[in-house]
Amino acid sequence: MSVDAIPPARLPDDRGAHGWASVAGAANRETLQLLAETVTDLAGFRVAAISVARDDGLLEVVAVSGPPEVRRQLEGNRTPLPWLVEELAKGEDWGPVRFVPHERRDGGTRDWGWVADVAPLDVPDAWHPLDVLVAPLHDDAGTLRGVLSLDLPVSGRRPAPEQRRALERCASQVARGVIAELVREELAGQMRLAEAARTVVRSVTGEPSLERVLALAEPALTEGFQAAGLVVWIHDAPGPDRVHRTPGVPTEPPHLAAALRRVARDLWREQRLSFAGRGQRNLARLDDVEAGALLEHLTEIGVASILVVPIGVADQCLGCVVLGRREGDHDWSDVEAAGALAVGHDLGSVVLNARALERERRTNEELRELDRYRTRLIATVSHELKNPLTSVLGHLEILDSVDGLPRPVERSLGAMERGARRMRRVVDDLLLLSRVTDPDTPLALRPTDLRVLVDEAVDLHAVTAARSGVNVEVVDDGRSVRAVVDVDEMDRVVSNLLGNAVKYSPEGGTVRLSLRRVGGEIELCVTDEGIGISAEDQERLFEEFYRSTNPIALALPGTGLGLPIVRRIVDRHGGRIEVDSELGRGSTFRVVLPAG
Ligand code: ADP
Repeated sequence: MSVDAIPPARLPDDRGAHGWASVAGAANRETLQLLAETVTDLAGFRVAAISVARDDGLLEVVAVSGPPEVRRQLEGNRTPLPWLVEELAKGEDWGPVRFVPHERRDGGTRDWGWVADVAPLDVPDAWHPLDVLVAPLHDDAGTLRGVLSLDLPVSGRRPAPEQRRALERCASQVARGVIAELVREELAGQMRLAEAARTVVRSVTGEPSLERVLALAEPALTEGFQAAGLVVWIHDAPGPDRVHRTPGVPTEPPHLAAALRRVARDLWREQRLSFAGRGQRNLARLDDVEAGALLEHLTEIGVASILVVPIGVADQCLGCVVLGRREGDHDWSDVEAAGALAVGHDLGSVVLNARALERERRTNEELRELDRYRTRLIATVSHELKNPLTSVLGHLEILDSVDGLPRPVERSLGAMERGARRMRRVVDDLLLLSRVTDPDTPLALRPTDLRVLVDEAVDLHAVTAARSGVNVEVVDDGRSVRAVVDVDEMDRVVSNLLGNAVKYSPEGGTVRLSLRRVGGEIELCVTDEGIGISAEDQERLFEEFYRSTNPIALALPGTGLGLPIVRRIVDRHGGRIEVDSELGRGSTFRVVLPAG
């Protein structure tokens, strides 16, 4: 009779390696209950209880067959597994069953949840309420997964040899049934965990960087596959691979990393996984030297087995995950392998997505840098041009006041002055454009009555409008149209839109500026009955230097900078601008700003 039959070294560990957190779900419990009842019927006992080993080292009673009050007392009862092991060490070995007579137990003994309140028969082989009859239940790996306990033989006597034999047969069958149920439940648990990991992996789609994707997926995968840690490689040709590892997982020698990546490519092509460690001496596709080096490395870092999961999309392998388990952890099950292969696909899509987002971000950053460079260039060139131009215009003015110049000279001077003035307009617009494009240019915001601002712009353009025979009117609905704006900049917006409307209107046309508050916004519309803008031109109106393809518009002076400036200013104020126009019928520019 030896205690070694129950190997305490293989008790379930405390990291939940058996996925036992939710053992015995409803269906599972029913099966176990049925098994317990079969035992009482077949083995001639009034009470049979099935307990399972929990991750925390406690034995929990999950099914009891017997009188209702016994069931009530016993069900859910938890006792430390080592107690039982200690107790059974004192008993007799009856094949798959152990019997500990009460006289071998130390007096009071430990509380196992229930002691029958019956007086033993007055015979030498009478059953005593403190007698213990237990069948330890081991799985194929020899791990103690639970026990079947029996109490109150119907005969009132300790089992005689023939009853023991019946008991042995019964115990073996129950052991198989219980283990099968536990394994089934365990696999269901693994499936749930793997599914949870997949859900997390899929949910990180849209994360802006690969680093973030891997950082978020890593804990979900280690937990979902009950691994001690993992390493992920993502190929990033032509650059080096992107690697993420569970904190504490040491770096592998480069030749091993390269071999594993090669294996991953083969695995992806064949849509399968590979294991290494423990019984499996060889990782598929590794030669003997590589396999030996791998096992040596794993032993060094305390990893007992690994699972290599290829990552990819369609026929493209993008990398791999290597999950590692320690000594004492359970083997990789088929359920987990299937889940892991699916995760390889999920991760593939997530990785592709993250890469696309990264590329987009890089391109945007490059474009922004280009934009900054262009703004700097424009600002510098315009500054450099402004002073000489001012000087040219000054000198032209002086020459203009000189009397008696020959007519051809006067004409030339006039042309030079018009050209210089036009250049100054372009330079001024360029300077303004670079100012409102630069995010560092501060806005002098203050609450402003936009009606006042609009009226001032109308006054400013009154002479031009009158000269062109264009009628300008302002309408509002009488409600407050206040907004928090930089007055100088907003003045440019109104002035520019009004100036264009007048410029592109025929004689006798009307330009209407309307202001109104809509919800939390102020809407300013500048409507004209002018030449209108083609759909094609409308697409590009706000691009710098864009002038319409309409010959009538082209014949009028302009820089093509007005609307881009307007758009930037409106953007800076958190507003938006839209255009609605029809060729030959007129245009409406609509500016919407937050009300203040
Ligand atoms: P500019 O008027 O100095 O050419 P803008 O940027 O202000 O530059 O306008 C760009 C182009 O948009 C103009 O060349 C013109 O063709 C068209 N445009 C702007 N406003 C109007 C309008 N109210 N009616 C018709 N065309 C317009």
